[in-house]
Amino acid sequence: MKNRYDIIIIGSGIVGSLIARYLSRYELDILVIEKEIDVGMCPSSANSAIIHAGYDPMPGTLKAEMNVEGNRLWHELAVELGIVFSQTGSLVVALADEDMCKISELYERGMDNGVTGMAIIDREELIRREPRINPQARAALWAPSAAVLDPFGAVLAAAENAVMNGVTYMFETKFEDFIFEGNRIIGVKTDKGDLFCRWAVNSAGLYSDEVAHKAGILRDMKITPRKGCYLIFDPEKITLNNVIFPVPSEKGKGILASTTTHGNVLIGPNNEECSDKEDISTTASGFEEVFSGAKKLVPSLELKNVIAQYSGIRATEREKKDFIIDIPPQVKGFVNLCAIDSPGFASSPAIALEVIELLKDAGEVLKEKSGWDPVRKPFPHFHRMSLEERTELVRKNPAYGRIVCRCEEVTEGEVLDAIHSPVPARTYDGIKRRTWLGTGRCQGAFDYPRVIQILAKELNIPEAEVTKKGRGSELIFRKTKI
Ligand SMILES: Cc1cc2nc3c(=O)[nH]c(=O)nc-3n(C[C@H](O)[C@H](O)[C@H](O)COP(=O)(O)OP(=O)(O)OC[C@H]3O[C@@H](n4cnc5c(N)ncnc54)[C@H](O)[C@@H]3O)c2cc1C
Repeated sequence: MKNRYDIIIIGSGIVGSLIARYLSRYELDILVIEKEIDVGMCPSSANSAIIHAGYDPMPGTLKAEMNVEGNRLWHELAVELGIVFSQTGSLVVALADEDMCKISELYERGMDNGVTGMAIIDREELIRREPRINPQARAALWAPSAAVLDPFGAVLAAAENAVMNGVTYMFETKFEDFIFEGNRIIGVKTDKGDLFCRWAVNSAGLYSDEVAHKAGILRDMKITPRKGCYLIFDPEKITLNNVIFPVPSEKGKGILASTTTHGNVLIGPNNEECSDKEDISTTASGFEEVFSGAKKLVPSLELKNVIAQYSGIRATEREKKDFIIDIPPQVKGFVNLCAIDSPGFASSPAIALEVIELLKDAGEVLKEKSGWDPVRKPFPHFHRMSLEERTELVRKNPAYGRIVCRCEEVTEGEVLDAIHSPVPARTYDGIKRRTWLGTGRCQGAFDYPRVIQILAKELNIPEAEVTKKGRGSELIFRKTKI
């Protein structure tokens, strides 16, 4: 097995994947190691999916700078990478007179941060833009550059484009420690063996504090996990046009109600401190908090129309309250990215480009590759095609004519594409996130058996070894019928 690389990136969330994608432009041998079985596990796939405009972070912070630049970059990146992206704009709604000064403050902050196109709109204009808004609303801050995207789809697109351009991914490979020569990092120890590099990049998200400590820096810095729960509604029962926030409080941006790229309404998140970075369980009390919070914005929400729930874990750092993005002077060969909590997704393209600037400043000579291809074409999505397009697709390959998921109209052809893509799906959830199968009203009741059969056949493994999301989540325990 090859064990020497120019750059090893630890973690394949949105930050690690975009660093890999932008660096794949240069003549570098790059490896991404990821402890999970797939890219973009929590929190990069379990969040509010909003490309924030950038009025929220305090002026002068890295968060403000990266958010505004990241928002600008996402608009072009989404086209290059074929990401489902929708520029909905966002509204911060003043529900009471005392909220009015808060939206003015956010407007001023946004202007300082360089956010363009913002306006404070009155009640009539607000109702015109969002007819389901609480009729008692007074006014809102309108930020047209805000957008929503499919977060997992974005991580996957970045990773696929990186792989197309020569980057290697190693999954189920856990970083354990660094290998030093003096004060220079020359490699990483993993549970799959030692790997050597000239540069190691810490993009380990929730675990970035522990990785930094292993590099011998930021010993006092601690990431505290904070959980946020979400509910998703049946799009046949309720829809929204925008991303709608309440005015923020000291706890954060508050419980929002938003449209998604798939037309569902999404509400959440609350903000609960939890002790376990892996605890993505959901609770009844969390949902009650989320539901009552979102109802203040959209009173017509009804609990009976909820079709799914999930939670994500924030990587919160309490002291500095800003992103850490640097090449620390104490240790050579190390790029450190810590505390990338919200607006980390919105900021991620700017963070990735900042890493390239840091490497250049540190003397790395980056030579552009000939033939770098920045464009990644998505696989066909049957559900979004016209009748003519569907007919043509099925004529070319009959597998696209066999429906595996009835609610979302996902075909066998799409499941096969997901399994044989540049970053292959190897689990049920991997297929689900790539194709949106199982996300409709029946939540997978129809498709599970068929997907298990297809995965077993294509991966050449027994059906009992097919998992939901990696080892320990096998889907079949024993036969109940002969
Ligand atoms: C509830 C919630 C809502 C949010 N909403 C938004 C939003 O609307 N807009 C926005 O901009 N941001 C939002 N965020 C923040 C955003 O999701 C994060 O900032 C972003 O996903 C961080 O990406 P990352 O790549 O740094 O980290 P991660 O997504 O955590 O990726 C790190 C990766 O490193 C891997 N890893 C960790 N340790 C190791 C190891 N030892 N060895 C190998 N691999 C390892 C992990 O498995 C993971 O895949 C939200 C976050 C949460 C939790």
